[in-house]
Amino acid sequence: MLSAEIVAVGSELLTPEKTDTNSLWLTERLNEAGVELKLKTIVGDDEDRLSEVIGDALKRSDIVIATGGLGPTEDDITRPAAARAVKRDLVFHPELEADLRERFRRWGREMPEINKRQAYVIKGAEILPNPNGSAVGMMFERNGKLLVVLPGPPREMKPMFEAHVNKRIRERSGDVVVSRRVLKVSGMGESAVDEVIAPVYKAFSGVQTSILFNKSEVEVHLSAKAGSNDRAEAILNDLSMRLKEVLGVSLYSLNGESLEEVVGSMLKERGETLALAESCTGGLVSMRLTDVPGSSSYFLEGAVTYSNEAKIRVLGVSAETLAKFGAVSAETAEEMAAGIRRSAGTDHGVSITGIAGPDGGSDEKPVGTVFIGYADGHKVRSVRFTFPGDRYLIRWRSSQAALDYLRRRMIRSKAGASEGR
Ligand code: ATP
Ligand code: MG
Repeated sequence: MLSAEIVAVGSELLTPEKTDTNSLWLTERLNEAGVELKLKTIVGDDEDRLSEVIGDALKRSDIVIATGGLGPTEDDITRPAAARAVKRDLVFHPELEADLRERFRRWGREMPEINKRQAYVIKGAEILPNPNGSAVGMMFERNGKLLVVLPGPPREMKPMFEAHVNKRIRERSGDVVVSRRVLKVSGMGESAVDEVIAPVYKAFSGVQTSILFNKSEVEVHLSAKAGSNDRAEAILNDLSMRLKEVLGVSLYSLNGESLEEVVGSMLKERGETLALAESCTGGLVSMRLTDVPGSSSYFLEGAVTYSNEAKIRVLGVSAETLAKFGAVSAETAEEMAAGIRRSAGTDHGVSITGIAGPDGGSDEKPVGTVFIGYADGHKVRSVRFTFPGDRYLIRWRSSQAALDYLRRRMIRSKAGASEGR
């Protein structure tokens, strides 16, 4: 497999204000072309360092892509640094200067003399035209290594890559295609997931599997290498189906969909509706659900009932329940779920009440204690969680647990229905 390196150029990328997003986009393109990214470097506007980095990169990697620093000013140093790294001169191209002058004329301006710098190109390099800006790119091959130099602004860099670089890289990588897929799992830890799925994915050759924990769910990233896209997709389909068998109901997404999307599709398919009563999540679950386009067909109402008084007045929770068991209790969660379902007239009612911290915990109910309530036409129930983390994470994990509880209830009721219950 061919190896690649990315060099992002620009002192602004070394400040907290500016992020190198070009390399993220390029990484995806390279992976799709069957090229493995081995290293990326960010270099400030320092010609010596940049030339050194590019030179070293070309020793290590088959493909080196540099972005940025192709402008006309003194601090745009990529042109001379790249030329120095490959030990070639920069040569002046009168036709590029003519193009630049023409560009400026079209804007009704005279070309500043410093822009002439942009008419210099590494000797022997292929010139990559830039329809979206003034800096042309360059592609230079030497001893089987490929150096690509692209402008920094993403709206110039991306089209240039698509039009000129992608094809060249694909020719070199010899029709190796890499397809990716993300599976998502809830209610299981990282190591538990690995234990269950390792015997399955280890039996697949040509597939790379990595397991990541992400706030409240486990993601299984699969990437398959094959001679064609169809073949790579077929391998991923096959592996995903086997992973689904071993993970069962804990697997909620086969294609990277978020939990709110999955729950939304289920509700839509079943033609059912939902209302929420949120306390400690302050509307987070409602927000997540309504982020999904088309959610109005199943999500009817969300109430943020933060105070006891609101729980009584809006949801009909009884004052006795609150006094006897507290606002954070199974009893309150169940009355909240039943109350919102009744008043909204929906098929499902879900509630969340908990202690997000940092204050408010006790021995019996420490910070992170969260109850999720659920009501449908037949039953009211609840589940208790104790989430680790800070306020942000506890709220996020609560929202995930509420959506997942609803998902599991729906799967169960469907199974129950088909068993004739
Ligand atoms: P220009 O001709 O516009 O000066 P350039 O090739 O010299 O182009 P830079 O001056 O390095 O590019 O960057 C111009 C702008 O492009 C930056 O201000 C930044 O907004 C964006 N940019 C540069 N590099 C990156 C990067 N790696 N990721 C995201 N944005 C970038
Ligand atoms: Mg610049």
